[in-house]
Amino acid sequence: MSNSLHSKPQNVAILGATGTIGLQTLDVMAQHPERFKVFALTANNSVTGMLDLCLKFKPEYAVMLQAQAANELAVKLKQHANNTIVLSGEEALSEIASHEQVDVVMAAIVGSAGLHPAIAAAKAGKRILLANKETLVMAGSLFMKAVQDGAATLLPIDSEHNAIFQVMPHQRAKYLAEMGIRRILLTASGGPFRELSTAQMHAVTLAQALNHPNWVMGPKITIDSATMMNKGLEVIEAHWLFNATAEQIDVVVHPQSVIHSMVEYNDGSVLAQLGNPDMRTPIAYGLGYPERLESGVSSLDLLKIARLDFVAPDMQRFPCLRLAYEALKTGGTAPTILNAANEIAVEAFLAERIGFMEIAQIIETVLSASEIVAVESIAQLVDIDSAARAHARKCLLQHV
Ligand code: NAD
Ligand code: MG
Repeated sequence: MSNSLHSKPQNVAILGATGTIGLQTLDVMAQHPERFKVFALTANNSVTGMLDLCLKFKPEYAVMLQAQAANELAVKLKQHANNTIVLSGEEALSEIASHEQVDVVMAAIVGSAGLHPAIAAAKAGKRILLANKETLVMAGSLFMKAVQDGAATLLPIDSEHNAIFQVMPHQRAKYLAEMGIRRILLTASGGPFRELSTAQMHAVTLAQALNHPNWVMGPKITIDSATMMNKGLEVIEAHWLFNATAEQIDVVVHPQSVIHSMVEYNDGSVLAQLGNPDMRTPIAYGLGYPERLESGVSSLDLLKIARLDFVAPDMQRFPCLRLAYEALKTGGTAPTILNAANEIAVEAFLAERIGFMEIAQIIETVLSASEIVAVESIAQLVDIDSAARAHARKCLLQHV
């Protein structure tokens, strides 16, 4: 076993450091200061959040997407006699993600903004801890190719995919069948509206949608969980990570969120990974792999949980899940369009411009009007993403 005390700490860059996953990553890293060094932190525009983190962790670099936020941060850091170098802009995110001194990249930006830095990290051969599922939905084939070409190490952080990764054979083969795997069972909490009727779902409020029963997460993924688009995005994510077809991925609603996902083998064995719903477990797994690290997560109290329930997902009440399966089966640029339209629709719901059930309607309208073509390049996907966003925005205008 490698002894971390005798080796140099690994330099970690956290993309999306001020977010839920970013902060939990820092929490786990702080438990292992001899193993990890905070090399770089990035955020969109949260100056106070980033200032606190820079003062506490003293990274070499801090990147703010917005130039004005970067200027403000630099002034404040100077006042505190802190030496962190402040950069700004999209390109700086990719420069940091591929910086030669960086060993590990936590990709925890929300949405398609995470794509370019994740690709840069892949091409530069980093160990990538991938939380940003939108990268795989938007550009799965090209991202996986960049991982392969760059000889990067890709570790899934999304709890379901981390669970699947943990229970798959360590000796990987190209196809699931070659590893004796029949199917993947992706568990879903079902979100806060699991038991509502369609009529009740039309009337839910933003506050109700933001109140997830089991997980604490950023606003976008919390809404995605309520619509079950999150599970749909995860089906597509599993397709790319594990080379599984849509038919090999089944969603199972499991309200307790204790089983994080399962793999069924040919002999009938079903292997599951269990634990408290706390993202520090997959984060610690990604940071330590193949070793196991203390994460700060408490022991699972099965006696207190007492029972585990399972029900089939309802595609009528949760059309977003159906749309995601359909986009995966259609292939080509369909998942890119699905993701882009979803980001705009969720943004509009968060701004209380549209109702909850209209999120799926907008996505379906955009998808059914779009021409689906084969994926060729990142530049092409960026154009298709922009066009789908513009179309979704037009739907919003027609709506009001
Ligand atoms: P969050 O909203 O809490 O944090 C997002 C982070 O990204 C922030 O640091 C923010 O400053 C940064 N950011 C936002 N927009 C940006 C932009 N345009 N450019 C650069 N940086 C930007 O989100 P989160 O809950 O931490 O989720 C992050 C990612 O991880 C998402 O893709 C989500 O689907 C995935 N994920 C999260 C969880 C969870 O439990 N929170 C679980 C699984 C997967
Ligand atoms: Mg998940």
